Parts: sequence; C-alpha cells; structure tokens
Amino acid sequence: MIIWSGQSKEYAVLSFAFSPEQRDFRAELERFAVTELAPRYIERAASTDYPWDAHRQVAELGVLGIGLPERFGGSGDPDPVTLGLATETLARGDINVASAPIYVGLVAAQIAEHAAPEVANEWVPRMVAGEAIVAIAVTEPGAGSDVSGLATVARPVDGGLRISGEKVAISHVMNASAALVYARAPESAGHAGVSCYLVPFDADGVTRTHTLGMGALPLGWGGVHLDDVFVPSDHRVGEDGRGFAGAMAHFDFSRPAIGLACLGAAEASLDEAVEWAKQREAFGRPIAAYQGVSFPLAESATLIEAARWLCYRSLWARESGERHTQYAAMCKWWPPQVAKDAIEAALVTHGNLGYSTEMPLQQRYRDVMSYLIGDGTAAIQKRIIATAMLGKVAAT
Ligand SMILES: Cc1cc2nc3c(=O)[nH]c(=O)nc-3n(C[C@H](O)[C@H](O)[C@H](O)COP(=O)(O)OP(=O)(O)OC[C@H]3O[C@@H](n4cnc5c(N)ncnc54)[C@H](O)[C@@H]3O)c2cc1C
Repeated sequence: MIIWSGQSKEYAVLSFAFSPEQRDFRAELERFAVTELAPRYIERAASTDYPWDAHRQVAELGVLGIGLPERFGGSGDPDPVTLGLATETLARGDINVASAPIYVGLVAAQIAEHAAPEVANEWVPRMVAGEAIVAIAVTEPGAGSDVSGLATVARPVDGGLRISGEKVAISHVMNASAALVYARAPESAGHAGVSCYLVPFDADGVTRTHTLGMGALPLGWGGVHLDDVFVPSDHRVGEDGRGFAGAMAHFDFSRPAIGLACLGAAEASLDEAVEWAKQREAFGRPIAAYQGVSFPLAESATLIEAARWLCYRSLWARESGERHTQYAAMCKWWPPQVAKDAIEAALVTHGNLGYSTEMPLQQRYRDVMSYLIGDGTAAIQKRIIATAMLGKVAAT
C-alpha cells in the first residue's frame, strides 16, 4: 500500500504488503478454496441450486461479517481490503461462492449503515450468519445503464408505502429473502426522488421469475414483479429521495471486489495452464518450450498482476477515505476483461480438454462473462472515469 506523507513531501512508506493478520486469513481461505470449493466447482456451477452449505461454511470462516459493526456479529470497522482479499481467494476455488463477500460490502453494509435499527437488527445478523441473502434490485426493462429512467413507483399510504413496478436481471433473486428495491416518488423524474426500500419477498404482491443465463447459474438470476406491495415507513434504507447516492457509494466497493473475483478465477486458470504446459508434449517437447504457448501465459500473468493491484489500490483508497469512484470504475471495466482473456488463453493452452465441460475453464469463462455486464458495462465505467477527468461534457 502506498502512503504519501503530504507534509514532508516524502514517501513515508512504500509497501504492497498485507498485514500478518490478512496473510494468515488469506492462507486459511486459500486452504478452504483449494480443498473444499475447487473440487466441486463444476458440479455446483452447473446447477441452479444455490450452494447454501458452502455459503454457511464461508460464514463460519468469518467472511460475511468483515467490516460490519460488532453489534451485528461483524468484525468491527470497515475493512474493504480484507473483504477484497477474501473475494479474490474464494474465487480461486469457486467464483460463484465468492459473490458472498461482494454482498457484504454492497448490501449488508448499506443496511447496517442506513436502515432503521429494528430493520438492521432483523436482517444484518442473519446475513452475517449465512442464513439470509438480500438482493439488490435496480435494473428494469426500460432502465439499465441509465438508471435515472427507472419507473418503479413508491406511493405513500398510511404507515408506509405501496410499491409497484418490474425489476429484471437481478442476481440472487431466487435465493434471497428480500431485496433493496429502488423506487421513485410519484411525479418525480431523473435521479431525484428515488429512494431505497428493503422489501421482504414474502410480502403480498411480490412475484419472482427465474431467468437462465450463460453462466453464474447458482446465483439465481431473474426478475421481480411488485404489485402494490406494502412496506412500512421504517423499511426505507437511507435518505428519502437520495437512494442512488447510498447505492453508488457501495458500488464503489463492489466494483473492485468484482474485479478481484474475476481475477481469482483467472489466477486458478493460469496455474492450471502452467502445469498443463509443462506436462503436455507436442512435436517431441513439452508445449511449454514453445513461445506460442508460454508468451500468452506470461502476458496473462503480467496483466493479472497489474489489474489486481489496481483493485487493491481502489479498496485501499476507500479504507483511507480518499476519493475512489474513478478507481472503482477502472476496476470494473478492466480486470474482468483481463480475467476473461486470461481464462481464454488458459483454455486454449489445454486444447480440446479446455473446451470440455469436464474442465473448469469453460465454466469460469462463462461465469466471468456475467461480470462484464452486471454492475454496469465497460462503456458505463469509462463514462464515469471520463467524467471525473473531463467534467460533464463527457457524460453524454
Ligand atoms: C449476470 C448479471 C447480473 C446482474 N445483476 C444485477 C443485480 O443484481 N441487480 C441489478 O439491479 N441489476 C443487475 N444486472 C443488470 C445490469 O446492471 C444491467 O444489465 C447493466 O447495467 C446494463 O443495462 P442493460 O442491460 O439495460 O443494457 P442497456 O443499458 O440497454 O445497454 C445496452 C448497451 O448499450 C451500451 N450503452 C448504454 N448507454 C451508453 C452510453 N452512454 N455510452 C456508451 N454505451 C452505452 C451499454 O454499454 C450496453 O453495451 C445484472 C446483469 C447481468 C448480466
């Protein structure tokens, strides 16, 4: 981690070292990823059932409480770097199971920080214990990249609100017990007037539909239809009419975490390709002897290394209270792309075996693809970075 001492105009410390506690924790998670997650990754990934057993094991390892207040069973102060480290390490064994820590910083932290105490007390400890998942529902049929166009309405009534609308493409919709739903006040337009509500899925008027994607099947992707659903007033999470502000602050965590999830899957793929290149022979020599094989692996290693430090730079900036929205956007467009390309190179290194569903490579490729779109496409991330650089002229 780079620490700049502004007063002395000298570098006080220049170090990329994790703390001894982080190193020990990573070693424990690595053992779990290699021995428990990796051997059954293909089987789990081919099923639409969420692996609650693995999810609870992740909870027992303390991952789902990282950075959440102790009163909810968490570890205490916000700790985005450790949460990112957990995401990357778990993804080496199973990128789908590794979505769990992303939801700690994206959803549980949002509820812990901004929900009414009774609502936070009801939901956050269950999330920390691995007993409940809360999804995040922003996207609608008519509003994806341009979230200001969302049409779901929350109409004030006695004691609360009635919410009507349609959300689509929501991860975990089939696994979750509730969702953070973004809905606007009647007659409002644009970003203004949008608030966030915690909507339990057992409320009257909620219907969920499963959508099959090309990967990430256990994440129970799909839509939720809200037909005049009543939520009590205390289920608003965050300030009235400023729902996007709360969400965006937490996307600044999820974006580097997603980058690290993708890179964890790419690192495992690269390790497998290196082993295979040393064993497999062609034209009388191990294929590792050919630069046509070794150079793509060398390139992948270089790009993965650069991309993972970009992610940790962003998480470290978050931990330090530095502005990091543009770094987070960089982490969401580039590292998933680096990971996808590295997995493709590893797959091709394995020849016909790489393409086979008996190998994890094709599965990782399909799972990583989900993150090229979910949480905003590369074009939208570049728009955020360009706006930070050039101002509103770039936000068209
Ligand atoms: C696997 C997966 C999981 C998801 N999980 C969730 C979830 O949990 N919760 C949730 O709310 N949503 C989720 N989404 C939805 C996701 O956030 C949206 O799909 C994404 O933001 C893009 O919106 P869209 O699909 O409507 O595409 P559109 O907004 O219609 O965009 C279509 C294309 O146009 C491009 N484009 C749009 N505007 C511009 C511009 N100004 N400049 C350049 N290019 C532009 C986009 O980059 C894209 O390539 C998920 C999606 C996927 C695929």
